[in-house]
Amino acid sequence: MLRVYSCVVGEHNLWLVLVAGLICALAAFTAFSIFEQARQSQRRRPLWLGLAGFVSGTGIWATHFVAMLAYQPEIPIGYDLPLTLLSIAAAVLVTGAGWFIAARGGLRAALLGGATIGAGIGTMHYLGMAAVKLSGEMVWDERFVAASVLIGIALSAAALAEQGRRPEALPWRPALVLTLAICGLHFTAMSAAFIFPDFSLAVPPAAIDSDMLTIAVVTMAIVILAISFIMVLFDRKLARNAAEEAVRLRTFADAAIEGLAVIDGDRILDANRSFLQLAGYESVDSMPAELSSLLPELDLDSLAVHGDAPASECRLVRGDAGVREVEALIRPLAWRNAQLRILAVRDISERKEAAERIAHLAFHDALTGLPNRAVFTDHLARSVEQAVATGEPMAVLCIDLDGFKAVNDLYGHPAGDAVLVGAAQRLRSVVRGNELVARLGGDEFAVVQLGGSQPTHAGLLSERILAALDQPFTIDGHLVRISGCVGTALFPADASSPADLIKNADMALYRAKAEGRATARFYEAAMDEALRQRRQLDADLKHAIDNEELAVHYQPLADLGSGTILGFEALLRWTHPTLGVVSPEVFIRLAEDSGLIIRLGEWVLRQACTEAARWTPRLKLSVNLSPVQFVQDDLAATVERVLAETGLDPDRLELEITEGLLIKDSERAIAILQRLKAMGVQISMDDFGTGYSSLSYFRMFPFDKVKIDQSFIREMIANPQARAIIRSVIGLGRGLGVPVVAEGVETAEQLEALRDEGCDQVQGYLIARPNPIGHFTGVIVDRAEATVRRRGAA
Ligand code: C2E
Ligand code: CA
Ligand code: CA
Repeated sequence: MLRVYSCVVGEHNLWLVLVAGLICALAAFTAFSIFEQARQSQRRRPLWLGLAGFVSGTGIWATHFVAMLAYQPEIPIGYDLPLTLLSIAAAVLVTGAGWFIAARGGLRAALLGGATIGAGIGTMHYLGMAAVKLSGEMVWDERFVAASVLIGIALSAAALAEQGRRPEALPWRPALVLTLAICGLHFTAMSAAFIFPDFSLAVPPAAIDSDMLTIAVVTMAIVILAISFIMVLFDRKLARNAAEEAVRLRTFADAAIEGLAVIDGDRILDANRSFLQLAGYESVDSMPAELSSLLPELDLDSLAVHGDAPASECRLVRGDAGVREVEALIRPLAWRNAQLRILAVRDISERKEAAERIAHLAFHDALTGLPNRAVFTDHLARSVEQAVATGEPMAVLCIDLDGFKAVNDLYGHPAGDAVLVGAAQRLRSVVRGNELVARLGGDEFAVVQLGGSQPTHAGLLSERILAALDQPFTIDGHLVRISGCVGTALFPADASSPADLIKNADMALYRAKAEGRATARFYEAAMDEALRQRRQLDADLKHAIDNEELAVHYQPLADLGSGTILGFEALLRWTHPTLGVVSPEVFIRLAEDSGLIIRLGEWVLRQACTEAARWTPRLKLSVNLSPVQFVQDDLAATVERVLAETGLDPDRLELEITEGLLIKDSERAIAILQRLKAMGVQISMDDFGTGYSSLSYFRMFPFDKVKIDQSFIREMIANPQARAIIRSVIGLGRGLGVPVVAEGVETAEQLEALRDEGCDQVQGYLIARPNPIGHFTGVIVDRAEATVRRRGAA
């Protein structure tokens, strides 16, 4: 060590040593920079490695010769040209080989490459020393020679290892270590040399002198500096190009509607603006680094396996903890040297929501949001299957609102809708996990209850439903009161198929409704038969008009004072082909329920008017009207048309209505009655005393006649109260100037009592039973005869 120190300090020009060191450091720095460039480039790697070899080789050589210039042994020195050139070539080739080895990557390659470079430094140095021609003899201390070579190899290896440790950093540290290797080798080797001057040995004339060498070295140093300078410039331009390229790419990426992110494994390296917006972050830095925390469901590996895998749908967890449905797509991305991937995500939340809304609409009732009939049917079928499989019982409950139509009529459809929504909400609140409630249509709902112990659980559910619907609703500030009826059928007790379960629950519901509001009924086998018969009768009635099974009978009304017949009431008769005579009490009700009464009513009217038009004398005709017939707006027009067609004078027609008509939709009904009255038709109040029998009816409409219901006549002898009522109705009629008719007079006793009370007219079996018109030829002149007589008069 001391010897090396005295060699450097004592035998060298220190300024020039410093210059040599600088040249060496500069060359090492440049060589490492080029080496790093080579490692990053793929196509031009050999070129860059070759250049690294050239820079390191010539750098070492320049260092060596500047250091030789600094060496002042005080005897003339020259250099042998071929050997000098050979030393340069050897330095370039051997260090170049070292760079090639190190470029393979890894610590071993770095150490081996570094050692080779060290060997290159040694080769250059000793070839260079062999080129030295001086007047004297050079003797070598072999231990120092070995030490110098070892220093060169070890430090070079260390330099390359250091570079491999931090390839991205500016290569100051490896350059410094390599400089130490070169200078260490050089000066240790110089200490190994002893020169014994022998002036008999002259420097050969062919040898190049120090001046020449200086020029060569300076040239070489300039070349190295120039290369470094160009390198730096080139690097700058590359960096600028890269920056411009990056800006261009980012502009492109940010313009993309899709969210784009560059990922390395699970790590997010960069993202465009759309991605940040979608994920709800301001910048890439504020975003979580792991992709899995943004897209927890995304299976990166399965996407990665197929380079062109289709997009997969998953959820994206936003920065604000909100969730978005996205479609994600991954494509490989070759970037610099790394194999990265680019992830494209597209927001499909809206599309999904729309699809879900459509699916919901297909299966749910738009108004109440309850499952619709399709869902109910499907659910019922599956429940029955399950009940069969598990042996559990189940129940089907059909629900119908009471008084819903009235709400609609009274407060309008929006209020009706509000009631339905409210009822649905309450039904939803009373059903449990094993129960599904659906809206089947209109004000009909149904529940499927699976399991439980039956009929107990179905019974409890019905009670919950009745209680829930019985609470009033507040709609538009009105307190609206409705209720509901429930019909229940059980599986397997009442039916074994879904269709029969619904049918039987419906039947139970029908029965419940018939018994009054807020009623629940279980299905009973007997209902089945009753309903079946009813349906059959209903169907039969439809055919009855066409099959001439219907006929009109007539019952006379007599003046109580004179006993003369004033007119006839038309009463409908039906003789069923198998059942025989069916009571009007039964079939009129049926026809009212099915709406058939409208056709039937018009038929009776036409038949009776045609008949009465032929009568002489021109007696009165009474025809009964059902309240249901007033649903038609054109009832008055129908009557007018029938009168015109049959030729009956309007003032011979009396229409009988019951007070029920005035309770329901009085304004409309009165309007129709007024139109009829304006035509000259008379209006009678039938069955007076059975309903509310309010005197206000007479204020509402000026009736032409009042018919006291036959139940009072039947009791008037035995029951003084019935008689008192009859008396007061007769008094009322007298006060209003309206004739009063007593119906159902069967006995002479009744007749006398009525005469005593001052009743105007009577009707009943005592006078005559209802019969076909032919039965009354004694009262009205034979129709054929009448026709002839009228012709004669004309
Ligand atoms: P209503 O209008 O009160 O008709 C009188 C009913 O009393 C008739 O019954 C008649 O046969 C019966 N009757 C008459 N005198 C006596 C009597 O002395 N004793 C007893 N026990 N009954 C007597 P019917 O024909 O069975 O008709 C029953 C109801 O059916 C009628 O009651 C009426 O409300 C309805 N109806 C009958 N025909 C028609 C029709 O063409 N149109 C409409 N809308 N309703 C009709
Ligand atoms: Ca009547
Ligand atoms: Ca009556």
